[in-house]
Amino acid sequence: MRLSRFVIPYRDVQPGEHVLYDVVSDRYVGVDDAALESLARWRRGGPVLPAEQEAAEALRELGFLVEGEAEDEARLAGARRTAASGRPGSFYVTLMPTLACDLACTYCFQKDHPAQGHMKPEVEAAALEWIERAVARSTAQKLVVAYIGGEPLARKDYVLRSAARLSAAMARMGRAFEWQLVTNGVSLDVDFARSLSALGQGEIKLTLDGDRETHDAGRVYRDGRGTFDRVFAALVAVAHTCPEIRLRVGGNFREGQEASFEALLDRMAAAGLAGRLKSVDFKPVVEGGCATSCGSRASETLVQLRGATSQRGLTRQAPRGVDQLAPCELHWDDAWTIDPSGRLYKCLAVAGRPELALGDVRSEALRPDPLLAGEPWKACAPDCPFVPVCLGGCLGGKVATGGRLGETACDRPLLEDQFRREIRRRYLEEFHRDEAVNAAAA
Ligand code: SF4
Ligand code: SF4
Repeated sequence: MRLSRFVIPYRDVQPGEHVLYDVVSDRYVGVDDAALESLARWRRGGPVLPAEQEAAEALRELGFLVEGEAEDEARLAGARRTAASGRPGSFYVTLMPTLACDLACTYCFQKDHPAQGHMKPEVEAAALEWIERAVARSTAQKLVVAYIGGEPLARKDYVLRSAARLSAAMARMGRAFEWQLVTNGVSLDVDFARSLSALGQGEIKLTLDGDRETHDAGRVYRDGRGTFDRVFAALVAVAHTCPEIRLRVGGNFREGQEASFEALLDRMAAAGLAGRLKSVDFKPVVEGGCATSCGSRASETLVQLRGATSQRGLTRQAPRGVDQLAPCELHWDDAWTIDPSGRLYKCLAVAGRPELALGDVRSEALRPDPLLAGEPWKACAPDCPFVPVCLGGCLGGKVATGGRLGETACDRPLLEDQFRREIRRRYLEEFHRDEAVNAAAA
């Protein structure tokens, strides 16, 4: 009998007090030195002594203790089934009205080779019919359509037309319709936001890569002008006039840009955005692997910026914690991406690459996803506890940035650091409220 390989021991959270955290169930228990010694003895095949019986049974019931590898494989299979259900009750479709974008961001592959390709009317009709059929076959009570590009607001007509049709179709089926829009923000305006909002509950995500100087160094029009002022003005206008729309701000930081992101947070607070945003989520720029851009500083900066965001009261929801980490849409049954030519994918990052498509909206035939062939996470380190929530990382992004099919995108040092900080903090807050303040600063 041994600890499941998905259980992480955090030693000396308090002197002589250790935490066992299970990644599969997101549960933890505190144990003392004697319990750690018992665990080590059981692992070597030693017997469970009468005095240990009760604790062993409790840990076994929680799934923390397993007899061997077969039980861990069963735990992983269970976690994958849970992941496959995605967001229960919701059917997700990512629609790409166009591959074209009106910007030429310095770090974007479209800068020198602008992509073209609008979805044609006959493909649009087939795509909407496919969505209606697929939702009707599912048990989902809600259709969520995410518009993404290129730049989806290069085709406002398409967005409003398709949302109106799908909203009406869902109403006929007795199901709900929601929309999401991922935009660079330069063409966002209040009239458009209001029209879309009238068709269903919605969410807009736009990107600000720091304050004006850093944002305008990267996110530029094709003639080189920066876009910060335009995007920020659109964010403020929509936040103040359409409070029913959930607004999310994302941004990508590089080492040394912390001050600019803090200045952006100050600017947002000064513009009256406190409490008006659903989330603010800054991430390290990832180029060819997790450690190459920001390295170990990335997680320090994440913590710093998350703290700075909550201090200013900008968001309605708490920053995402490790309890929210789960396999992405690639692993969900009811999540699809439709590219402008009508091909179907699970992963947005490879949309537009026919060799990685699973099917086409003009046919019901589907093939297994090449990104999942051979279950790439089987090549992960056997001692990695994060497999149930990570499953090899961003497999689509890996291929889209030049990796080979089957290669994992490993972010393990970042995961280790995030989990260690957060589980320690949660445990101390629950059982040692006073010490939690000190640990937060550690
Ligand atoms: S990709 Fe890395 S962190 Fe993710 S499961 Fe594999 S080894 Fe673990
Ligand atoms: S593999 Fe990466 S890009 Fe594709 S859906 Fe998952 S997280 Fe997104």
